[in-house]
Parts: sequence; structure tokens; C-alpha cells
Amino acid sequence: MDYISAGDIEKYSYCPLSWWLSLKEKNSENEGVRRHREISNEAKRGMEEYQKKGDFEKSVMYLAVGATLIALVGIAMLYSSFPLAIAFHSISIFWLIVALYMLWKADVLVVQWKKMTFERMMVIIPLASMVASIFAITFLLQPNFLMGYLLEVLSMLWLIGATFFLYLSLKAEMEYSKIRKKLKLPDGEIIYVDDLEKAPLLRSDKYGIQGRPDLLLKVSDNYIPVEIKTGRIPRGPLFSHIMQLTAYMVLVEENYKTPPYGILKYGPQIYRINYEDDLKKILLQKVDEMRKALKTGEVHRNHHRVSKCLHCSRRDICPERLA
Ligand code: SF4
Repeated sequence: MDYISAGDIEKYSYCPLSWWLSLKEKNSENEGVRRHREISNEAKRGMEEYQKKGDFEKSVMYLAVGATLIALVGIAMLYSSFPLAIAFHSISIFWLIVALYMLWKADVLVVQWKKMTFERMMVIIPLASMVASIFAITFLLQPNFLMGYLLEVLSMLWLIGATFFLYLSLKAEMEYSKIRKKLKLPDGEIIYVDDLEKAPLLRSDKYGIQGRPDLLLKVSDNYIPVEIKTGRIPRGPLFSHIMQLTAYMVLVEENYKTPPYGILKYGPQIYRINYEDDLKKILLQKVDEMRKALKTGEVHRNHHRVSKCLHCSRRDICPERLA
């Protein structure tokens, strides 16, 4: 299938002839592309910092939990207590029973996300049971002061490690906030950046369109495409840009889930464009027209606006220009 790109839909929506002339152009790196590349690089750095922050936070959590457990085992090594050993044994058995219930529940469930939740619990609960039984055994042993104090020191070292990762995570968060502020990005986690090279191409087999949004933000459970426009800032969102963004919303719908809106960004100015059926209908009409034009080779100017031609980057080679 021949796919039509979101970028071409933007050009066609501006003026069909502009799109037609652009098909014969060689791709050259103009000022707009250079500026775009700079923004993409910064956004990509932001995305990496955010991922680092998440990884560091996980390390903090693992080290802190590890340090707490080691410290508790250390304390248990310093004391011998039969009632505490019985108590921890009971807790351990209780968790094992819960784990068996979860195993049965995960097996009979049909809804996928519920099944996955139970399967995740199946990993955590046996671990909790194991920790409780370690305590139970340790409380039965004779006090071992050397081992107890060694474990307390080890726990301190783990806590120092957790503090170090906390510092790295805060540093990554500050860097991420700085980049977001600099690019004046809307709220949300950056999960995709069009780096003009390696970012995966989104495709819709249903409608035969493809493209790479400049950014994809994860806001709550939604994936929001963002189209960033450099150059002059218009008084409101332009029709051709709305069409391009709608194409990205269709792509996000097919590759992730239906987005409630998309974002058009002109410098610091941000516009939310709702994903509506009417917009999608107009977009698909344009795609149909483009396919017909590709077959017939008949393409002409479809407007009488001199200002459009004045701002058109193809007016020098256009046979139908108005200015
Ligand atoms: S100069 Fe005018 S008619 Fe020609 S491609 Fe540009 S907008 Fe269309």
C-alpha cells in the first residue's frame, strides 16, 4: 500500500499545488528543519533525563527496602524470642495461603489487566512470606552480636547508596524541568520524539497514512500528539496544521489508543485541538483527493487568497501563483 504522510497532508491542505510542487523538490536542510532538529534534540534529552529519573527512583526504592530488611534481620540477630518467632511463622503461613488464592484467581480470570495484577501480586506475596520466615528463623537462633552489628553496618551502607541515587534522581528531575521550561512544553511525560532519523514511523493500515509526530506526551492514561511549528506565530491555529495534527491523532488512535485531543505549539503559544469526527471526516476526504490527484496528475490552486501565495515557499516555481 502507498502511504500518504501527515507532512504531505499539511502541504495539500495549505494548497494542493504546493503539495504537488513539493513532490519534485529535493529535501534540503533549511532554517525551519535546523530549528526543528534543535528542538527535537532538546526534547530527546528531556525524555532521557525523565527515564533516568525513573530508573534512579527505582534504585532508591530497592536500596531503601533492602536496607530496612537487612536492618530488621540485624536486630533479630541481636535478640532471641520464641513468641516473635511464632508470630512471624504465622505471618509467613498466612501470606502463603494468600499466594495460593492469588494463583487460583489468576488462573480463572479472563480479563487481561486483572489477570496481570494478580500475577504481579503472585511475585510480591511469596517474597513477603519468605522475609517473614527468615525473621521467624532468626528469632529462634541464639543471639549473634557480631552478625547483628555487621548487618546494621551493611544496612547503613545501603542507605548511603539510596541517598546517592536520590541525589541523582533529583538532579535528573531538575534537568528535565529545565528542558521543559526552555521548550515551553505542556504537561505530560515525553514518550516519543521525532528525531528526524530513527524515531519509529507510525502507520495506519486502515487509512493508508503515516507520519512521525514531533512529540508524543503521556498525560494520565492518554497519548497526546504534539506538533511544533517554528517560524512566524499565527493569530490562531492554521487549517493545514490542524489537518496534520488530525492525521497524527488518527495514527495515535491506531497505534496506541484514541486521544482526546492533540496539541499545536507555535513558540510559547499552545492550542488544544479536540479529536472530533468532523475533523477526521475532512482529513479522510483530503486523503482521498490526494490519491485521486496522484492517479490523474491533475492538481491546481484551490483558493483566491493572495496572502497565501505571498507566504508560500513554492511561489517562485508556481505557475498559478497570485503574488
Ligand atoms: S504560490 Fe499560491 S497557488 Fe502556488 S503553490 Fe503556493 S499557495 Fe498554491
